[in-house]
Formats: sequence, C-alpha cells, structure tokens
Amino acid sequence: MKIIRGGIVYQGDEWKNDIDILLEEGKILDIVPKGKYNEGQAIDADGYFVCPGFIDIHIHGCAGRDVMDGSVDALEDIARFIAGHGTTSFLATTAASSREATRASLKAVAAIMKKQCRGAQILGVHLEGPFINPEAKGALAGQHILPASINGFTDLAGEYEGIIKRVTLAPDVEGARELTGYLVNKGVVVSMGHTAAGYDECIEGIEWGMRHATHFYNAMTPLKHREPGAVGAFMAREDTTIELIADLVHVHPAALKIAVGVKGCSRVALITDSMAATGMDDGEYFLGLQEVVVNQGVARLKDSGNLAGSTLTLDKALRNMVSIGFQVNDVVKMLTEVPACITGVDDHKGRIEKGYDADLVILDKNLYVNMVFIKGNWYGINI
Ligand SMILES: [Zn+2]
Repeated sequence: MKIIRGGIVYQGDEWKNDIDILLEEGKILDIVPKGKYNEGQAIDADGYFVCPGFIDIHIHGCAGRDVMDGSVDALEDIARFIAGHGTTSFLATTAASSREATRASLKAVAAIMKKQCRGAQILGVHLEGPFINPEAKGALAGQHILPASINGFTDLAGEYEGIIKRVTLAPDVEGARELTGYLVNKGVVVSMGHTAAGYDECIEGIEWGMRHATHFYNAMTPLKHREPGAVGAFMAREDTTIELIADLVHVHPAALKIAVGVKGCSRVALITDSMAATGMDDGEYFLGLQEVVVNQGVARLKDSGNLAGSTLTLDKALRNMVSIGFQVNDVVKMLTEVPACITGVDDHKGRIEKGYDADLVILDKNLYVNMVFIKGNWYGINI
C-alpha cells in the first residue's frame, strides 16, 4: 500500500487540507485524515495540491511524434511525455488522412491498449475528420475529406471500430445525420466541429446526437446577434458540452471567460489539441501529413498560415487559466471530471474517490507538476 500523505486534496469541487490517500492495486483504497494509517510506503505531499490525473480528449502529438506516425513507439513517446505534464489518460486523436494511414494509426493504438505501457493510458481514439466541411478544414488535409456515411466510417475503421470512442464531424456534410445516428447507438461520442453550418443546422445536429463541440470557437461559425452560428447553438443548449484550447493563442482570454461563464465549468473540458512540436524547439514539423512551421511555440500550416494545433500541455493550460483569473479548483474540474464524463469513464476516472483508479497529479504551490501516479504507479518526473 502507498500513502500520499498530508496533501491539499481536490475532492468534490473543493480543497481539503491534511488528507491521506491510500493506494492499493492501482486503485484508491481510502481517503482519510492525515496520520490515520502508518503502514505502507508514505509519500510526503504536505503543502502540495493533489488532483485527479488530467484527461486530454483531443491530442495529436508531442515530443516530435504524432498519432498519425502509426507506430507503437510514437504512441509510447507521447504517453510518456504528457505523463510528465500531469496527463494520465487521453484519446489519441487522428487527423483526416488516407485510409491506409488512418488504419496504421488505429492498429498501433489497438496494440498499445492491449499492453501495459509506461506513461499516460490511452482510452481510445478520437477521429478528427475525415467527415468534415472543407470550408472549415482548419489544418486538416483537404484532399482526405469525405462525405459522411456509415459505410465510409466502417471502411475506415475496419476491425478497429471498437477502439474509436469519439468522432468529430460536421452536421453540414452529406450523410452526417445517418452517421451520427449510427455512432450514437454504438456509444461513440459525436462532436460537432470543422463546420460552416449556421445556427439552425447546428441545433439539428445537436438533436441528432452531436452533444459536444470540438475546439469550441475554432473552425466553426461564430456568434453574431442575428446569426448565432455554431457558437451560439452550443451556448444556447444546456444539454451540450464544449472543449477549449487554453493556450491563450487559439482563443482570446475574454472569449475563454465568456464560454465558461455561459456553460459553467461542469460543461467545459480543457484540451491541448497539441501536435508534434510540443516540448520541442521551434522549426518545421508535420500535423498528420500537413507541413507546419512553429514560431515562438505557435504552430501554423506552411502554406495557408492556419493555426495547426497547439504546443500546449495540460499543466500549462491550468496555469494559463489561473493567470487570467480562474479559480484553481474550477480549472482542475475542467481537466479531470468533465473530460471523464464526456468520454464515459467517470465511473472510475476523473475524481479522487474510493475505488477510483489511482491516477493522481501532485502540484506545487505554483502549479508545476511534482509527482504523477498512474494506476498507482509512481511516474518519475523529469522536466
Ligand atoms: Zn485537432
């Protein structure tokens, strides 16, 4: 048994002082006042924040690697790098690409999910495209965009359909209604994104089952007072969730505050949408197969100059949000409990509760990662 001793623990939306967390066999065995038990290996967390592990439901890559590399090695590098930044589980996110390249990525994810790997755990795949509107492709490759259809999806997924937990699609592409119905029935999260649809069409999409918005504000129709767009649709509908890239580049701080103000922090997940250059020097990289130039940490497509993912990590997202005035506990919720709910793993991840997975992040007073536990295993931090 391990004991995380005396931390300031995030539990039930608030901080509790002088708490011991008992870990055994990868789970949280109990949460007790400091010093109640003395057997086992004690890890001193006195004066540190103890939070559930962060969950990133939209990440393409980091550390020079991309999910579209299609290799177990690349996924392991990504999993290890983000663990050092407090992320204990994630959805490996593909970028619209050829059937062969997508299959190779799915195969690698399926392989890694079967074995015990060090670093953050992969919860499954988030397919970002290819069923999107070319007019709102952002940094996705136009030549690989396809109309939506059940056959198109099953053909792309092949034997790996079971690991696809989330699909970003646009309501304004042909066949979107049919594919949304199919995916919702299978329990896949359908998120609306990369769309040029107006308000009415977006509301229809929400009715079909698109209850989450992919990188809210980015690559979707904006809110105007007579044309509320996709942004207005998700703000107006309480039965939806959104995700935000809090790198302070993709979305203006005021727009972050407005979105969280309208939705409430229990309906907002923070994501990185990070790409290979994360944790690396400025230079030339790829997002999927698209050429990207990174300058001062901002990634843009070489040809169009469109933003091409971020170089954000979730611990940085936490510090960014706090720097613009958010409360730490509200931000932690958006990094843990909310993404766990969106992906349907909230019965065992995203909170510090008895019986939950022992995925924990220990942060110092300045909100830098000090220690990380993934399923009870101490993940050495070297950053
Ligand atoms: Zn993305």
